[in-house]
Amino acid sequence: MCVETLARKIKKAADFISNSSYLVAFTGAGISVESGIPPFRGADGLWSRYNPETLELNYFYRYPAESWVVIKEIFYDFFGKAQPNPAHLALAKLEKMGLLKSVITQNIDNLHQAAGNTVVYEFHGNSQRLVCMNCNSHYPASAITLDTLPPACSLCDGLLKPDFIFFGERIPMDAYSFSMNAAERCDVMLIIGSTGEVMPANQIPPVAKRNDAVIIEVNPEPSRYTSAITDIHLEGRAGDIMTLLLELVEKKISKM
Ligand code: NAD
Repeated sequence: MCVETLARKIKKAADFISNSSYLVAFTGAGISVESGIPPFRGADGLWSRYNPETLELNYFYRYPAESWVVIKEIFYDFFGKAQPNPAHLALAKLEKMGLLKSVITQNIDNLHQAAGNTVVYEFHGNSQRLVCMNCNSHYPASAITLDTLPPACSLCDGLLKPDFIFFGERIPMDAYSFSMNAAERCDVMLIIGSTGEVMPANQIPPVAKRNDAVIIEVNPEPSRYTSAITDIHLEGRAGDIMTLLLELVEKKISKM
């Protein structure tokens, strides 16, 4: 059996990316691990420390103050301090180079935008915005003090909620249709740090595959995608692999 070395696989991936006409990235919690944000699942995951019920819509409506204490701790005191890592920065660079057309992210941490990506489809919303459950006004999280919980809308005094989807909520329609469209159009899809277990987000990469896109996956572990649709699995941490991949792509593009 021929086992390809990681270096060879990164070179092959760099060739596909350099020659692509419509590259799209699909990212999950794993891309933000090196920024200090743990995934939800697994031994060190957030659900080993917190009760996932906090993020159920019904629970939030019934116990907004209790929910907000946990939400504040996880998503504002903790996520709020995280900075983009080399993997986020590599995707921003690929967009600047004109190769990466969009990022479809399941993450709610705003780190792709902080890194400089401008076309980001937020499949699950964004923790850095708050929405009023009464009048639908939106606020940047930085504009709301979380000294008194739950926070209230300054226009109508309604309950404010983070603008990411809770268990029991629908995917934002625009994010869904833009993501599907990007998956149908792309000729190369880069999947970074996703188990592929969360529905319906996990339906996006198979759409790209059915439309003949080359699937490149960056993940230290195999995922649901690996044996099913992945063409090149780059086993390693997102920051390390994306740094090497970007270096090769930059070299190739400069010679074209
Ligand atoms: P997941 O938690 O199910 O899986 C994370 C994946 O990342 C795993 O496959 C793991 O092997 C991989 N991984 C771990 N470290 C990595 C690294 N350094 N580099 C690359 N990959 C690494 O993630 P998911 O598939 O995105 O689903 C989780 C859900 O939880 C999503 O819906 C997401 O919205 C949400 N979530 C978001 C954040 C965030 O915004 N940063 C954090 C936790 C959970």
